[in-house]
Amino acid sequence: MSPVTACDVAVIGAGAAGLAAARQLRREGHNVVVFEKESQIGGIWVYNSATEPDPLGLDPTRPIIHSSLYSSLRTNLPRETMGFREYPFVAKKTGQRDLRRFPGHVEVLEYLKDYANEFGLSELVRFETEVSRVWRREGGKWEVRFRKRSGGDEDVDEDFDAVVVCNGHYTEPRIAYIPGVDRWPGKQIHSHNYRVPEPFQNKIVVLIGSSASAVDISREIASVANEVHIASWSNSNEESGTLPGYDNVWLRPMIESANEDGTISFPHGFKISADIILHCTGYKYHFPFLDTQGIVTVDENRVGPLYKHVFPPSLAPWLSFVGLPWKIAPFPQFELQCEWIAGILSGRISLPSQNEMMKDVEAFYDSLQASGVPKRYTHNMTGYQFEYNDWLATQCGAPKTEEWRKKIYHATSLNRKARPETYREEWEDEDLVLQAYQDFAKQVSCKQVS
Ligand code: FAD
Repeated sequence: MSPVTACDVAVIGAGAAGLAAARQLRREGHNVVVFEKESQIGGIWVYNSATEPDPLGLDPTRPIIHSSLYSSLRTNLPRETMGFREYPFVAKKTGQRDLRRFPGHVEVLEYLKDYANEFGLSELVRFETEVSRVWRREGGKWEVRFRKRSGGDEDVDEDFDAVVVCNGHYTEPRIAYIPGVDRWPGKQIHSHNYRVPEPFQNKIVVLIGSSASAVDISREIASVANEVHIASWSNSNEESGTLPGYDNVWLRPMIESANEDGTISFPHGFKISADIILHCTGYKYHFPFLDTQGIVTVDENRVGPLYKHVFPPSLAPWLSFVGLPWKIAPFPQFELQCEWIAGILSGRISLPSQNEMMKDVEAFYDSLQASGVPKRYTHNMTGYQFEYNDWLATQCGAPKTEEWRKKIYHATSLNRKARPETYREEWEDEDLVLQAYQDFAKQVSCKQVS
């Protein structure tokens, strides 16, 4: 790649990833336009009490609600670990701010607004502007087709040197396959459309899943429902007891079938009558606007081929993806991915050859297959996010992850398992929190000096 100093870059989405991209790209000297279909920044953190008309989110023509937050949602990461490296998520004692270590979603949105203000990012965003198509023209430029919500039916095309995709991946529901469910007379809903527990009053609910949302939502629903049955592959076939501390919540193995008479069958002939199946079964990567002529595909939820989860080798560095990995602390990783992309686009950092990148991707896929990891877990970074982040940091010449951040992340994971009900109120890593705040204080005094 011949070195260039400044590129025209389109960023799609003004959630946390898009904001980090805008910040790092501009810092590197690029010209940035961020396209955002909604009227404000924040992405998933903009709570919307409305839900989609299709509660399972299967109808491709349905009007899409971007956010999947429920009203009571609090972060599942403590603020020290969750925040951007460059702009710590500290409790602000001004105004009506939520000072808790695991704050509610409103506080996260406020924090993202603070971040955008600090770095003047909103001025880079074209709000209410939905991107409908992205493709590469002959000659190498990228074309972005977009439409202003208030601009009638008019599509506009604009040229860019590079496109950074930051459209999020918690909007397109994935649902569990349940034999016989088409003839089952009850209601089904995906957690994407769960907001408050009231509609579950006096109902018998089968909730599928074991993720952080499944844990929160099952407890919340238990306060109003008659019965909650948590069905999950991780519950063994033998145990079917109640959840400790609850007399109306049962842990069940995965559903075997749903039946015409309204019952749900579990292994060993056990059956219950149920009113609602709630799928807390995650989401699919979805890039409806992206036309790469088949170069980038989503295959069983693997977005690929991507070098280090970011660049399709044959289109690098002109097309990139930020924020695909999961089971991580997202914001600090977004920052590093974006710094890497920005540095590569400016020619400050170099990428291996296309061939070498492709070999790296293939070796990664082979290693997953050899360890029996299904394709849909390609972007699951359990156990190696910090190694990956440190690799990115080294490429960028940036500091590696702070020791306290790694340790807090780990301590929180253990605490969440040990105290699923109370980990947001009780913890034992106070000494690490102190270290984090000492680091933050140093950052602030450095800023004041510089
Ligand atoms: P998003 O926030 O989804 O932003 C994507 C943006 O792209 C949106 O603004 C959208 O409107 C825009 N967009 C999409 N398509 C287009 C288009 N075609 N044209 C223009 N604009 C478009 N993370 C944590 O760190 N801590 C937590 O506690 C935590 N809890 C979570 C709880 C839930 C229920 C969920 C779903 C996620 C949670 N996360 C949490 C993960 C969270 O998704 C990430 O932290 C992060 O906010 C994702 O940012 P993003 O920018 O990648 O995506």
